[in-house]
Amino acid sequence: MRILLVEDDEILADGISKALKHNGYAVDHVSSGYEADSALKSDTFDLLILDLGLPSMDGLDVLKNLRSRMSTLPVIIVTARDTLDDRVIGLDYGADDYLTKPFDLPELEARVRALLRRGLGKGTVELVFDQLKYDTVTKRVTYNDKFLDFSAKEISMLEIFLKRSGQVVSKEQLLEHMYSWDEEVSQNAIEVNMHRLRKKLEPCGIFIRTIRGLGYLLDNTN
Ligand code: CA
Repeated sequence: MRILLVEDDEILADGISKALKHNGYAVDHVSSGYEADSALKSDTFDLLILDLGLPSMDGLDVLKNLRSRMSTLPVIIVTARDTLDDRVIGLDYGADDYLTKPFDLPELEARVRALLRRGLGKGTVELVFDQLKYDTVTKRVTYNDKFLDFSAKEISMLEIFLKRSGQVVSKEQLLEHMYSWDEEVSQNAIEVNMHRLRKKLEPCGIFIRTIRGLGYLLDNTN
């Protein structure tokens, strides 16, 4: 899952980025409203964390522009503006959640998880495919209640498949949701992770089929 963080306080942004990356998210950070606006136009994200007091364009204008493009991207506002009016305006402009600074990182992390679940129409913590279960909070995977070991990138790939189960996932979608700008993505990064993930899932009777010209599909039929 890929998150755009818009925050001009570099120390705070660094703390949030590190915490989210530690949780396995791909995080892109920009520090001005203008950069945020253009990133949102050109790239695909799963969630936006938005400060309001920003250089070059106010966060509320970034949000207004985003919603005027009919985007349903989940948005959490994080700001020191904490009057009732500010919160009401933020939510009226289309924010999904509002967190007042200072806040504790675990609270932001919990809200990120909650919004990502809601954004996909899945209110549950656990994603299930056949006997395979993935806990989105602990990031642990079990098959028949036995723990399976996956790398962070394998987990993020698996998560995309589980959230879109029954749908073909394109290579572009995998790239968009798994990697941030500053990550070096080699030409065969997807193939390498796909190969490892397939090897680990096959003993569970779960296969990632290649659908020629379209992408990949999670499947449990022989
Ligand atoms: Ca600010």
